[in-house]
Amino acid sequence: MYDFLIVGAGLYGAVFAHEAKRVGKSVLVIDRRPNIGGNVYTELVEGIHVHKYGAHIFHTNSKRIWNYVNQFAEFNRFTNSPVANYKGELYSLPFNMYTFNKLWGVVTPQEAAAKIEEQKKAAGVTNPKNLEEQAISLVGSDIYEKLIKGYTEKQWGRPCSQLPSFIIRRLPVRLTFDNNYFNALYQGIPMGGYTQMVKNMLDGVEVHLGEDYLQKKAEYDAMAERVVYTGAIDAYFHFKMGPLEYRSVRFETEILDQPNFQGNAAVNYTDAETPWTRIIEHKWFEFGKGPDGQDLPKTVISREYSSEWKPGDEPYYPVNDEKNSALYSAYKELANQETKVIFGGRLGEYRYYDMDQVIASALAMANRLFGE
Ligand code: UDP
Repeated sequence: MYDFLIVGAGLYGAVFAHEAKRVGKSVLVIDRRPNIGGNVYTELVEGIHVHKYGAHIFHTNSKRIWNYVNQFAEFNRFTNSPVANYKGELYSLPFNMYTFNKLWGVVTPQEAAAKIEEQKKAAGVTNPKNLEEQAISLVGSDIYEKLIKGYTEKQWGRPCSQLPSFIIRRLPVRLTFDNNYFNALYQGIPMGGYTQMVKNMLDGVEVHLGEDYLQKKAEYDAMAERVVYTGAIDAYFHFKMGPLEYRSVRFETEILDQPNFQGNAAVNYTDAETPWTRIIEHKWFEFGKGPDGQDLPKTVISREYSSEWKPGDEPYYPVNDEKNSALYSAYKELANQETKVIFGGRLGEYRYYDMDQVIASALAMANRLFGE
Protein backbone atom coordinates (compact mmCIF):
# COMPACT_ATOMS: atom_id res chain seq x y z
CA MET A 1 0.00 0.00 0.00
CA TYR A 2 1.49 3.32 -1.10
CA ASP A 3 0.64 6.70 0.37
CA PHE A 4 0.28 8.11 -3.15
CA LEU A 5 -0.33 6.70 -6.57
CA ILE A 6 0.56 9.37 -9.11
CA VAL A 7 -0.97 8.96 -12.53
CA GLY A 8 1.21 10.69 -15.10
CA ALA A 9 4.98 11.20 -15.13
CA GLY A 10 4.86 14.70 -16.58
CA LEU A 11 5.92 17.83 -14.72
CA TYR A 12 3.00 17.93 -12.30
CA GLY A 13 3.38 14.26 -11.38
CA ALA A 14 7.17 14.42 -11.11
CA VAL A 15 7.19 17.53 -8.92
CA PHE A 16 4.46 16.18 -6.67
CA ALA A 17 6.23 12.79 -6.41
CA HIS A 18 9.49 14.51 -5.50
CA GLU A 19 7.83 16.55 -2.77
CA ALA A 20 5.88 13.59 -1.37
CA LYS A 21 9.01 11.47 -1.21
CA ARG A 22 10.93 14.31 0.40
CA VAL A 23 8.53 14.31 3.36
CA GLY A 24 8.78 10.54 3.69
CA LYS A 25 5.65 9.41 1.84
CA SER A 26 5.70 6.24 -0.21
CA VAL A 27 4.95 6.95 -3.85
CA LEU A 28 4.29 5.03 -7.05
CA VAL A 29 4.22 6.90 -10.36
CA ILE A 30 2.60 5.29 -13.39
CA ASP A 31 2.32 6.51 -16.97
CA ARG A 32 0.77 4.91 -20.00
CA ARG A 33 3.56 6.10 -22.27
CA PRO A 34 6.83 4.16 -22.47
CA ASN A 35 8.70 7.21 -21.19
CA ILE A 36 8.66 9.76 -18.39
CA GLY A 37 8.33 13.51 -18.93
CA GLY A 38 4.84 13.80 -20.39
CA ASN A 39 4.88 16.43 -23.10
CA VAL A 40 8.21 17.92 -22.05
CA TYR A 41 9.91 14.64 -23.03
CA THR A 42 13.03 15.09 -25.15
CA GLU A 43 14.97 12.43 -27.00
CA LEU A 44 18.50 12.51 -28.36
CA VAL A 45 18.65 12.24 -32.17
CA GLU A 46 21.92 12.92 -34.04
CA GLY A 47 23.28 14.63 -30.90
CA ILE A 48 20.24 16.92 -30.72
CA HIS A 49 17.62 16.98 -27.95
CA VAL A 50 14.41 16.69 -29.91
CA HIS A 51 11.30 18.08 -28.19
CA LYS A 52 9.11 15.21 -29.24
CA TYR A 53 5.79 16.62 -28.02
CA GLY A 54 6.38 20.21 -29.01
CA ALA A 55 8.89 22.89 -28.18
CA HIS A 56 9.23 23.78 -24.51
CA ILE A 57 11.09 26.87 -23.43
CA PHE A 58 11.27 27.30 -19.71
CA HIS A 59 10.48 30.82 -18.53
CA THR A 60 9.25 32.26 -15.27
CA ASN A 61 9.06 35.46 -13.27
CA SER A 62 9.20 33.56 -10.02
CA LYS A 63 12.59 33.31 -8.39
CA ARG A 64 11.20 30.54 -6.19
CA ILE A 65 10.22 28.39 -9.19
CA TRP A 66 13.48 29.19 -10.98
CA ASN A 67 15.50 28.08 -7.95
CA TYR A 68 13.30 25.02 -7.67
CA VAL A 69 13.95 23.77 -11.23
CA ASN A 70 17.63 24.59 -10.96
CA GLN A 71 17.92 21.83 -8.36
CA PHE A 72 17.28 19.34 -11.13
CA ALA A 73 19.08 20.83 -14.11
CA GLU A 74 21.45 23.54 -15.13
CA PHE A 75 19.80 25.87 -17.63
CA ASN A 76 21.47 27.40 -20.67
CA ARG A 77 20.98 31.02 -21.74
CA PHE A 78 18.55 30.32 -24.59
CA THR A 79 16.21 33.23 -25.25
CA ASN A 80 13.18 32.62 -27.39
CA SER A 81 13.05 34.96 -30.41
CA PRO A 82 10.79 33.37 -33.00
CA VAL A 83 10.69 34.67 -36.54
CA ALA A 84 7.41 35.03 -38.40
CA ASN A 85 7.26 34.01 -42.06
CA TYR A 86 4.28 35.57 -43.82
CA LYS A 87 4.27 34.46 -47.46
CA GLY A 88 8.07 34.63 -47.56
CA GLU A 89 8.33 37.98 -45.75
CA LEU A 90 10.18 37.66 -42.43
CA TYR A 91 9.24 39.61 -39.31
CA SER A 92 10.60 39.73 -35.77
CA LEU A 93 8.51 38.45 -32.89
CA PRO A 94 7.22 39.46 -30.49
CA PHE A 95 5.95 42.66 -32.06
CA ASN A 96 8.68 45.24 -31.55
CA MET A 97 10.52 48.04 -33.36
CA TYR A 98 12.14 45.60 -35.82
CA THR A 99 8.66 44.35 -36.75
CA PHE A 100 7.22 47.85 -37.10
CA ASN A 101 10.19 49.03 -39.15
CA LYS A 102 9.90 46.12 -41.57
CA LEU A 103 6.15 46.53 -41.85
CA TRP A 104 5.78 50.29 -42.17
CA GLY A 105 9.30 51.69 -42.58
CA VAL A 106 8.90 53.61 -39.31
CA VAL A 107 12.12 54.42 -37.47
CA THR A 108 11.18 55.88 -34.09
CA PRO A 109 8.92 54.54 -31.32
CA GLN A 110 6.78 57.69 -31.74
CA GLU A 111 6.17 56.89 -35.41
CA ALA A 112 5.32 53.27 -34.58
CA ALA A 113 2.92 54.30 -31.81
CA ALA A 114 1.23 56.79 -34.13
CA LYS A 115 0.78 54.13 -36.82
CA ILE A 116 -0.76 51.66 -34.34
CA GLU A 117 -3.03 54.40 -32.96
CA GLU A 118 -4.19 55.36 -36.46
CA GLN A 119 -5.10 51.73 -37.26
CA LYS A 120 -6.85 51.24 -33.94
CA LYS A 121 -8.96 54.34 -34.57
CA ALA A 122 -9.80 53.25 -38.11
CA ALA A 123 -10.97 49.87 -36.79
CA GLY A 124 -13.17 51.60 -34.21
CA VAL A 125 -12.69 49.01 -31.43
CA THR A 126 -13.30 50.51 -28.01
CA ASN A 127 -14.16 47.62 -25.76
CA PRO A 128 -12.55 44.41 -27.14
CA LYS A 129 -14.73 41.36 -26.60
CA ASN A 130 -12.79 38.65 -28.41
CA LEU A 131 -9.30 37.84 -29.67
CA GLU A 132 -9.78 39.66 -32.99
CA GLU A 133 -10.88 42.90 -31.34
CA GLN A 134 -8.25 42.56 -28.65
CA ALA A 135 -5.49 42.06 -31.25
CA ILE A 136 -6.58 45.00 -33.41
CA SER A 137 -6.83 47.25 -30.41
CA LEU A 138 -3.35 46.20 -29.29
CA VAL A 139 -1.39 46.34 -32.54
CA GLY A 140 -3.66 47.55 -35.33
CA SER A 141 -5.02 45.82 -38.39
CA ASP A 142 -1.80 45.25 -40.44
CA ILE A 143 -0.16 43.13 -37.75
CA TYR A 144 -3.42 41.41 -37.03
CA GLU A 145 -3.83 40.43 -40.70
CA LYS A 146 -0.23 39.37 -41.34
CA LEU A 147 1.03 37.99 -38.06
CA ILE A 148 -1.93 36.99 -35.91
CA LYS A 149 -5.05 36.01 -37.82
CA GLY A 150 -3.74 33.11 -39.94
CA TYR A 151 -1.54 31.66 -37.21
CA THR A 152 -4.19 31.84 -34.51
CA GLU A 153 -6.94 30.38 -36.69
CA LYS A 154 -4.66 27.50 -37.70
CA GLN A 155 -3.60 26.85 -34.13
CA TRP A 156 -7.09 26.97 -32.65
CA GLY A 157 -9.23 25.95 -35.65
CA ARG A 158 -11.72 28.70 -34.83
CA PRO A 159 -12.22 32.25 -36.10
CA CYS A 160 -10.42 34.85 -34.00
CA SER A 161 -13.78 36.52 -33.42
CA GLN A 162 -14.83 33.43 -31.47
CA LEU A 163 -11.71 33.03 -29.36
CA PRO A 164 -11.12 34.44 -25.88
CA SER A 165 -8.78 37.41 -25.86
CA PHE A 166 -6.59 36.10 -23.03
CA ILE A 167 -4.77 33.80 -25.50
CA ILE A 168 -3.19 36.80 -27.18
CA ARG A 169 -2.12 38.39 -23.91
CA ARG A 170 0.76 35.96 -23.99
CA LEU A 171 2.17 38.00 -26.86
CA PRO A 172 3.89 41.18 -25.74
CA VAL A 173 4.00 44.42 -27.78
CA ARG A 174 7.04 46.63 -27.37
CA LEU A 175 8.28 49.94 -28.70
CA THR A 176 11.88 48.79 -28.23
CA PHE A 177 14.30 46.67 -30.26
CA ASP A 178 13.82 43.65 -28.02
CA ASN A 179 13.24 40.28 -29.67
CA ASN A 180 12.90 38.34 -26.43
CA TYR A 181 9.49 36.65 -26.81
CA PHE A 182 8.82 36.20 -23.13
CA ASN A 183 8.49 38.96 -20.58
CA ALA A 184 10.20 36.74 -18.05
CA LEU A 185 12.96 37.35 -15.56
CA TYR A 186 14.34 33.83 -15.96
CA GLN A 187 14.53 31.71 -19.09
CA GLY A 188 16.48 28.82 -20.55
CA ILE A 189 16.60 25.21 -21.65
CA PRO A 190 17.79 22.49 -19.27
CA MET A 191 21.20 21.29 -20.40
CA GLY A 192 21.05 17.56 -21.01
CA GLY A 193 17.37 17.74 -21.98
CA TYR A 194 14.04 17.86 -20.20
CA THR A 195 13.90 14.07 -19.84
CA GLN A 196 17.03 14.15 -17.68
CA MET A 197 15.55 16.97 -15.60
CA VAL A 198 12.37 14.96 -14.93
CA LYS A 199 14.48 11.88 -14.24
CA ASN A 200 16.30 13.86 -11.57
CA MET A 201 12.97 14.92 -10.05
CA LEU A 202 11.97 11.27 -9.93
CA ASP A 203 15.26 10.10 -8.45
CA GLY A 204 14.53 7.30 -5.97
CA VAL A 205 10.82 7.19 -6.88
CA GLU A 206 9.28 3.98 -8.15
CA VAL A 207 7.98 4.49 -11.70
CA HIS A 208 6.04 1.99 -13.81
CA LEU A 209 5.68 2.85 -17.48
CA GLY A 210 3.21 1.50 -20.02
CA GLU A 211 0.48 1.38 -17.35
CA ASP A 212 -2.97 2.70 -18.23
CA TYR A 213 -4.72 3.81 -15.05
CA LEU A 214 -8.23 4.20 -16.46
CA GLN A 215 -8.11 0.65 -17.86
CA LYS A 216 -7.66 -0.87 -14.41
CA LYS A 217 -8.78 1.91 -12.14
CA ALA A 218 -10.20 -0.16 -9.27
CA GLU A 219 -7.05 -2.27 -9.08
CA TYR A 220 -4.78 0.78 -9.02
CA ASP A 221 -6.98 2.66 -6.55
CA ALA A 222 -6.65 -0.24 -4.13
CA MET A 223 -2.87 0.23 -4.13
CA ALA A 224 -2.74 3.66 -2.47
CA GLU A 225 -4.34 5.91 0.12
CA ARG A 226 -4.58 8.82 -2.29
CA VAL A 227 -4.38 9.17 -6.06
CA VAL A 228 -2.97 12.16 -7.93
CA TYR A 229 -4.46 12.10 -11.41
CA THR A 230 -2.89 14.28 -14.12
CA GLY A 231 -4.76 12.90 -17.14
CA ALA A 232 -7.72 14.55 -18.84
CA ILE A 233 -10.49 15.26 -16.34
CA ASP A 234 -13.32 14.41 -18.78
CA ALA A 235 -11.73 11.03 -19.62
CA TYR A 236 -11.59 10.24 -15.88
CA PHE A 237 -15.38 10.60 -15.73
CA HIS A 238 -15.90 8.64 -18.97
CA PHE A 239 -16.98 11.84 -20.73
CA LYS A 240 -20.31 11.51 -18.98
CA MET A 241 -21.14 15.20 -19.27
CA GLY A 242 -19.81 15.34 -22.82
CA PRO A 243 -16.24 15.73 -24.06
CA LEU A 244 -14.19 18.84 -23.37
CA GLU A 245 -12.51 20.23 -26.46
CA TYR A 246 -8.76 20.14 -26.90
CA ARG A 247 -6.42 21.01 -29.69
CA SER A 248 -4.03 18.32 -30.74
CA VAL A 249 -0.75 18.70 -32.57
CA ARG A 250 0.90 16.44 -35.10
CA PHE A 251 4.61 16.66 -35.79
CA GLU A 252 6.39 15.78 -39.01
CA THR A 253 9.97 15.36 -37.92
CA GLU A 254 12.85 15.05 -40.39
CA ILE A 255 16.58 14.59 -40.04
CA LEU A 256 18.29 16.76 -42.66
CA ASP A 257 21.79 16.23 -43.98
CA GLN A 258 22.74 19.88 -43.58
CA PRO A 259 23.93 21.83 -40.55
CA ASN A 260 21.47 24.71 -40.71
CA PHE A 261 17.93 24.74 -42.11
CA GLN A 262 16.35 27.98 -40.89
CA GLY A 263 18.88 29.64 -38.59
CA ASN A 264 16.49 29.81 -35.64
CA ALA A 265 14.75 27.48 -33.22
CA ALA A 266 11.24 28.59 -34.20
CA VAL A 267 9.81 30.03 -37.40
CA ASN A 268 6.06 30.69 -37.29
CA TYR A 269 4.17 30.50 -40.56
CA THR A 270 1.56 33.16 -40.03
CA ASP A 271 -0.36 32.98 -43.32
CA ALA A 272 -3.53 30.92 -43.65
CA GLU A 273 -2.31 28.93 -46.69
CA THR A 274 0.76 27.13 -45.25
CA PRO A 275 -0.69 24.05 -43.58
CA TRP A 276 1.75 23.94 -40.65
CA THR A 277 1.80 26.57 -37.89
CA ARG A 278 5.53 26.53 -37.26
CA ILE A 279 8.80 24.73 -37.89
CA ILE A 280 11.07 23.96 -34.97
CA GLU A 281 14.77 23.38 -35.60
CA HIS A 282 15.70 21.70 -32.36
CA LYS A 283 19.49 22.18 -32.37
CA TRP A 284 19.14 25.97 -31.92
CA PHE A 285 17.72 25.49 -28.43
CA GLU A 286 21.29 24.51 -27.60
CA PHE A 287 23.15 26.88 -29.93
CA GLY A 288 23.70 24.17 -32.54
CA LYS A 289 26.04 22.19 -30.30
CA GLY A 290 25.92 18.53 -29.30
CA PRO A 291 26.18 17.19 -25.72
CA ASP A 292 29.99 17.53 -25.76
CA GLY A 293 29.92 21.01 -27.24
CA GLN A 294 30.68 19.68 -30.72
CA ASP A 295 29.35 21.14 -33.99
CA LEU A 296 26.74 18.92 -35.58
CA PRO A 297 26.71 18.11 -39.28
CA LYS A 298 22.99 17.34 -39.36
CA THR A 299 19.85 19.02 -38.15
CA VAL A 300 16.39 17.88 -37.03
CA ILE A 301 13.27 19.87 -37.85
CA SER A 302 9.63 19.37 -36.88
CA ARG A 303 6.74 20.83 -38.80
CA GLU A 304 3.82 21.37 -36.45
CA TYR A 305 0.25 20.82 -37.58
CA SER A 306 -2.66 21.74 -35.38
CA SER A 307 -5.90 19.78 -35.35
CA GLU A 308 -9.08 19.30 -33.35
CA TRP A 309 -8.61 16.57 -30.78
CA LYS A 310 -10.57 13.36 -31.30
CA PRO A 311 -10.50 10.17 -29.22
CA GLY A 312 -7.18 8.38 -29.69
CA ASP A 313 -5.21 11.63 -30.25
CA GLU A 314 -2.99 13.26 -27.65
CA PRO A 315 -4.71 16.28 -26.09
CA TYR A 316 -2.33 19.28 -25.99
CA TYR A 317 -4.17 22.54 -25.51
CA PRO A 318 -7.39 22.94 -23.55
CA VAL A 319 -9.78 25.26 -25.40
CA ASN A 320 -10.65 27.64 -22.58
CA ASP A 321 -13.58 29.34 -24.27
CA GLU A 322 -16.89 29.99 -22.52
CA LYS A 323 -18.56 26.77 -23.52
CA ASN A 324 -15.69 24.55 -22.44
CA SER A 325 -15.01 26.52 -19.29
CA ALA A 326 -18.61 25.95 -18.23
CA LEU A 327 -18.33 22.24 -18.96
CA TYR A 328 -15.06 22.08 -17.05
CA SER A 329 -16.77 23.67 -14.05
CA ALA A 330 -19.30 20.87 -14.10
CA TYR A 331 -16.53 18.26 -14.18
CA LYS A 332 -14.73 20.13 -11.42
CA GLU A 333 -17.84 19.74 -9.23
CA LEU A 334 -17.65 16.00 -9.75
CA ALA A 335 -13.92 16.04 -9.07
CA ASN A 336 -14.52 17.81 -5.76
CA GLN A 337 -16.65 14.88 -4.64
CA GLU A 338 -13.83 12.38 -5.27
CA THR A 339 -12.28 12.46 -1.83
CA LYS A 340 -9.47 10.07 -2.68
CA VAL A 341 -8.36 11.62 -5.95
CA ILE A 342 -6.54 14.90 -6.56
CA PHE A 343 -6.67 16.37 -10.09
CA GLY A 344 -3.66 18.33 -11.32
CA GLY A 345 -1.76 19.64 -14.32
CA ARG A 346 -2.73 21.00 -17.74
CA LEU A 347 -5.15 18.15 -18.43
CA GLY A 348 -6.35 17.49 -14.89
CA GLU A 349 -7.16 21.17 -14.33
CA TYR A 350 -8.00 21.93 -17.99
CA ARG A 351 -5.80 25.02 -18.01
CA TYR A 352 -3.47 26.47 -20.65
CA TYR A 353 -0.61 26.28 -18.14
CA ASP A 354 3.00 27.14 -18.82
CA MET A 355 5.60 24.86 -17.24
CA ASP A 356 6.30 27.21 -14.34
CA GLN A 357 2.59 27.39 -13.55
CA VAL A 358 2.30 23.60 -13.54
CA ILE A 359 5.20 23.38 -11.13
CA ALA A 360 3.71 26.09 -8.93
CA SER A 361 0.40 24.24 -8.90
CA ALA A 362 2.05 20.93 -7.89
CA LEU A 363 4.05 22.67 -5.16
CA ALA A 364 0.92 24.39 -3.85
CA MET A 365 -0.84 21.02 -3.65
CA ALA A 366 2.15 19.45 -1.87
CA ASN A 367 2.20 22.37 0.52
CA ARG A 368 -1.51 22.02 1.22
CA LEU A 369 -1.12 18.33 2.02
CA PHE A 370 2.25 18.29 3.73
CA GLY A 371 2.01 21.80 5.17
CA GLU A 372 5.46 23.30 5.40
N1 UDP B 1 0.35 34.15 -31.91
C1 UDP B 1 0.15 34.77 -33.12
N2 UDP B 1 1.19 34.80 -34.02
C2 UDP B 1 2.38 34.23 -33.76
C3 UDP B 1 2.58 33.60 -32.52
C4 UDP B 1 1.54 33.56 -31.61
O1 UDP B 1 -0.91 35.28 -33.39
O2 UDP B 1 3.26 34.28 -34.63
C5 UDP B 1 -0.77 34.11 -30.94
C6 UDP B 1 -1.73 32.98 -31.23
O3 UDP B 1 -3.03 33.45 -30.93
C7 UDP B 1 -1.32 31.92 -30.25
C8 UDP B 1 -0.87 32.74 -29.05
O4 UDP B 1 -0.31 33.92 -29.62
O5 UDP B 1 -2.37 31.07 -29.95
C9 UDP B 1 0.13 32.05 -28.17
O6 UDP B 1 1.18 31.56 -28.98
P1 UDP B 1 2.44 30.78 -28.42
O7 UDP B 1 3.28 30.44 -29.58
O8 UDP B 1 3.03 31.57 -27.32
O9 UDP B 1 1.75 29.49 -27.81
P2 UDP B 1 2.39 28.07 -27.47
O10 UDP B 1 1.90 27.17 -28.53
O11 UDP B 1 3.87 28.25 -27.50
O12 UDP B 1 1.82 27.73 -26.13
